[in-house]
Amino acid sequence: MNRFEAVIGLEVHAELMTNAKMFCGCRVVDSVEAPPNSAVCPICLGMPGMLPAINRRAVEFALRVALALNCEIQAENVFARKNYFYPDLPKGYQISQYELPLARHGWLEISLPGGAKRRVGIRRVHIEEDTGKLTHLDGEGSLVDYNRSGVPLLEIVSEPELHSAEEVYAYAVRLRQILRYLQVNSGDLEKGVLRVEPNISLRPQGSSEFGTRTEVKNLNSFRALAAATEYELQRQEAILRQGGEVAQETRGWHEGRRETFSQRSKEEAEDYRYFPEPDLPPLFVDKAWIDRVRQELPELPAAKVDRYQEDLDLSHYDASVLTEDRPIAEWFEAAVKAGGEPKRVANWIINNLFALINESQQEITSIRVTPEGLVSLLKLVDEETISHNSAKDVLVEMFKTGKAPDAIVGERGLAQISDEQALEHIVSKVLALNAQQVQAYLEGKEQLQGWFVGQVMRETRGKANPELANELVTKLLERRR
Ligand code: ADP
Ligand code: MG
Ligand code: ZN
Repeated sequence: MNRFEAVIGLEVHAELMTNAKMFCGCRVVDSVEAPPNSAVCPICLGMPGMLPAINRRAVEFALRVALALNCEIQAENVFARKNYFYPDLPKGYQISQYELPLARHGWLEISLPGGAKRRVGIRRVHIEEDTGKLTHLDGEGSLVDYNRSGVPLLEIVSEPELHSAEEVYAYAVRLRQILRYLQVNSGDLEKGVLRVEPNISLRPQGSSEFGTRTEVKNLNSFRALAAATEYELQRQEAILRQGGEVAQETRGWHEGRRETFSQRSKEEAEDYRYFPEPDLPPLFVDKAWIDRVRQELPELPAAKVDRYQEDLDLSHYDASVLTEDRPIAEWFEAAVKAGGEPKRVANWIINNLFALINESQQEITSIRVTPEGLVSLLKLVDEETISHNSAKDVLVEMFKTGKAPDAIVGERGLAQISDEQALEHIVSKVLALNAQQVQAYLEGKEQLQGWFVGQVMRETRGKANPELANELVTKLLERRR
């Protein structure tokens, strides 16, 4: 039986988190929290005769993304009108870019399960504006909120170079991570500020022609993206195996039934009657602007993962976890800068701090433990002032109260007994109180060693330095032979 190869390209729409909209002075507001139609003006409502003006901050955000995706930047950018009618588009056209997009010919490196890396081509990155938001009432018409209309929107289009649902997932996750690192988009799929639409087709293995594709919309999680891609691949394969033809169309995803369904047949570019936007001059992006934005780009996650492994000797897993979000990576790096040993700091963050953060449903940016605070805590362990176990308790308290670790150790009397004379005194007392067990030990029941150490810990309420206690127990028992 012949096999099929999956061919998939992704269209991603990302709203840009600028203060103002793309072509007017209205604020960009939260689509869920802001009262409907509270951030609108004659320009974004499409009143006749109103003139748009380009928000250069939005262009700068778009440049960040284009450069992070290794694209070539277009020096002269022309905006275009994409004409169509829909109630969420009061102007009757969307200002977009068509023939001359901001950026082209880039690539994004994705990490596949198992650690392999692959570059996926980026066909184009262009600037456009978002539409309003419709809410359909069950049988009672629809509501429209124009707060979103005119919000700067970036369209990022990949080459059809993805070949499985796993690759689609890896691409989307990595792209979202970069958008968040660049602080241009929150990556919130559920709120719709980031929308990922796979174009999916199959072709016989070895064929060089593309098959007919479908595009899947309204996916509001990465899980839905992967599930819908997988479903669509199987649906198309069943059609092709029966000798049928895949219809070129846009399909929706039904989360409850976990299947895609036909929404509308695919429109062609001609249908939009694109033409250059007469109300906007061309946008020139000069080299100086590009150079400055490039220089200001943060270190990106892929580079961080490599550096953490090579320079800081972390495992791939630790490096990946710590770089997932930029604030976490920055917190970690601040702790290392404060003198923390990288591997150890990494362990404390991953094994202890993350649990506290998750439990309290906070972000690392709002917690009361500082990177310097963690490093001072680890120092107390190194100096044997407190045990590793007490340190964990101290961290919990630091997390709750924001107090410095030495203050907590002082208040709670957690300082470990490492003074040899003091501890020897306690060990002697324990042996004196347990003559029977001492006798048994001397007669060969050497496993009692641990029990004596336990008694010392009990006597000191856990504050004895465990290694020293162990040494002294051996020493004093041997002395009785
Ligand atoms: P449109 O804007 O009409 O959807 P584009 O040419 O911009 O068309 O392509 C959109 C996306 O579809 C791109 O990511 C591209 O890689 C992908 N694509 C194009 N042809 C195919 C195909 N035959 N199978 C899968 N994906 C495809
Ligand atoms: Mg499309
Ligand atoms: Zn406006």
